[in-house]
Amino acid sequence: MPIRRLADLLRRPPRRQTPDPPAARMVADQLRARGIRDERVLGAMSALDRRLFVTREFRDHAFEDRPLSIGYGQTISQPFIVGVMTEHLDLRPHHRVLEVGTGSAYQAAVLSRLCREVVTLERIPELARSARERLRSVGAGNVLVVQTDGSSGYSARAPYDRILVTAAAREIRRELLEQLADGGAMVAPVGETLGGPESTQTLAKWTRTGDAFDRQDIMPVRFVPLVEGAE
Ligand code: SAH
Repeated sequence: MPIRRLADLLRRPPRRQTPDPPAARMVADQLRARGIRDERVLGAMSALDRRLFVTREFRDHAFEDRPLSIGYGQTISQPFIVGVMTEHLDLRPHHRVLEVGTGSAYQAAVLSRLCREVVTLERIPELARSARERLRSVGAGNVLVVQTDGSSGYSARAPYDRILVTAAAREIRRELLEQLADGGAMVAPVGETLGGPESTQTLAKWTRTGDAFDRQDIMPVRFVPLVEGAE
């Protein structure tokens, strides 16, 4: 191994591999009990302290079965939804993954434990900045946070084996789908973005074979809107 790379590895804070008790309880009660079976996903989420990804006022609520505010009108997703999305991505250790909508960086930290590299895009500068700090504090050295409008993806680092969108758009842009590698898959919420109880969004998965994209619907969901244009 080149000396530089070794030095980099030594400088990173160690990753906690052992279960964090409240996180492990959250995983048992909210994910395993509702049918999430992928042990790698369950293990990654059991080892990650969700309190590090919420603002101080929500620390005591970090493991609850709901999304929480992270400021700027945005939310950290409900743990179960993070589990569903991550399981459907069917990640392999060699995968490179694009996430659109960094938010708290919790989802990015989960992904970082299951694949080789994560590129995550966030349009709000303050959230991108705190995401970098949080990822550093949990030793997620394989995540690149880019502050940009991610509605068309990030072609500079394409193609990706997997793409995950964590904000809802009416429809998925062709440019984003085209950043998938052949055989790759994307998970994203699509539908009305007005919010409220009548909001109708569907979490769906697209699989690429050559130039064909096959769509499979997963479940109804409610996400904050994907906002186009820079902050
Ligand atoms: N994955 C996050 C939750 C995301 S909330 C987590 O684990 O906490 C959705 C995020 O998408 C918000 O932070 C919002 O600012 C961001 N977002 C919305 N539109 C965007 C766009 N066009 N490009 C990049 N990020 C966007």
